[in-house]
Amino acid sequence: MNKQPFFYDITLRDGNQALKKPWNLQEKEIIFNKLIELGVQGIEVGFPNASELDFEAVEHLSKIAPNNVVVSALARCVETDIRKAADAIKQAPKPRIHTFMAMNPLGIEYVIKKPLNEIKDICIKSVKLAKSLLPEYGDVEFSVEHFGDCVENINDVIEALKEIVNAGATTINLPNTVERFRPQTFVNMVQKVKMALPENVTISVHCHNDLGMATATTVESYFAGATQLECSLNGLGERSGNTNMYEVAIALHNSGIEIPLNLSNIYETALLTSEMANVPIWEKAPLIGYDALAHRSGIHQDGVAKTKHLSKGAYRAFNPELIGRGTDESFEFTSQSGKTALYEILNGTPYKITMQEAIYLSKFAKTEAEKIGNLSTECLIDLYLKKICDIQGDFVLEDFRKIDSDRFNLSFEYKNEEFDITAKGNGPIEGCINALKKAGFDIKLINYEQKTIEAQKGEEAEAMSIMQFDNNSNGTITARAINSSTAEANVKAIFNGLNLMYPAN
Ligand SMILES: [Zn+2]
Repeated sequence: MNKQPFFYDITLRDGNQALKKPWNLQEKEIIFNKLIELGVQGIEVGFPNASELDFEAVEHLSKIAPNNVVVSALARCVETDIRKAADAIKQAPKPRIHTFMAMNPLGIEYVIKKPLNEIKDICIKSVKLAKSLLPEYGDVEFSVEHFGDCVENINDVIEALKEIVNAGATTINLPNTVERFRPQTFVNMVQKVKMALPENVTISVHCHNDLGMATATTVESYFAGATQLECSLNGLGERSGNTNMYEVAIALHNSGIEIPLNLSNIYETALLTSEMANVPIWEKAPLIGYDALAHRSGIHQDGVAKTKHLSKGAYRAFNPELIGRGTDESFEFTSQSGKTALYEILNGTPYKITMQEAIYLSKFAKTEAEKIGNLSTECLIDLYLKKICDIQGDFVLEDFRKIDSDRFNLSFEYKNEEFDITAKGNGPIEGCINALKKAGFDIKLINYEQKTIEAQKGEEAEAMSIMQFDNNSNGTITARAINSSTAEANVKAIFNGLNLMYPAN
């Protein structure tokens, strides 16, 4: 009988360090809360000695962590790293220090340049130090970096690990830091370690996806005795990423293993993570890709239709509802529907929406559905136009005009104060932003997109302006507006953005 898997998430550390623009504290907190909702049992939140920012994030997330979640900080086998990590996580209900060192022949010869015996001594000293700095209820994880490359010296590595366990490490993590070989080679090595170490030591795997086999390697390692599975949301991580948590969870679920995660949160979590990381989901991505449920050939469609009523579909590896993806039949939003239903329905119309906006809008939609019953697509579009494209607040746009080639006049009201400002600008968007700056409202536009909303029955086509602003320490916000005039849509989007960034109390 296999033990229940322990999902240890590394999105906030391995995933985050590989982002083009790493997350700030507020963004990390959003992902952290999503991970808690998803039900992961362990979260590696950062590398405190990497930067002051990382230290603060680890410290903050440790404070807000629930009692049943392990919060872990990474540290090299270096005293300052370990002390910083201990300091940063000391307020976590279940603190862990994760320390690591390479033991592969290539690393020994060219990177560390010390014999394995000396490396082992450094590891033992580090594990003892980490253990001594943690409270009774804390624990230490040790990783053999590049374990997948220890094919030739595996026996020596195992001997070193026995001593590291004696020094106080209770989780031994075996990373396939670079995926070079077939999964079975790695799985055999995992099994060998599992057999050699005491029963109460948790064996963990951490697989990178260089050859696209990380999910397979992780799943098979579980059956070889690795109960801690290090995975990331959307497979984020260095190079081709880390093991994708959703794929591992569903593969194990399909194999009859009880999964301690809220699987129906997967789709929503994936969409939000993609938006926040600015890493789009590939349309062919398993489970969460746009095409993952599409059947195009006649033979496939026939098989799907004939097995639709069965729990096991002819061409269906999983039930979409299992991961929180609505079925294709659901076109109505009920008071029981979630953000993903809203997201799917609106994205099937010209009125596109992001997951963050869907989360915001779903609160209003639920209230509306409780009052008037199921909401049709038209009802949702109405709500979208009101709540997303026309945000009421302290900023009220009165007029915006072009005076001459590069001068613009903006008049608006803010908390009953009237502003009438003329400013220069290379085009109306810059003119409007410069006028606001003169009035004391500095906003940073980081992305701008223009879309056409195709003419609906009897109506004209309209312009949609989508703007992304830097919301200081609160990450970014998306604002949009629709108008028959592009210029008006732009200025209106700026004002919607202002009302989002400075919400009225
Ligand atoms: Zn890694």
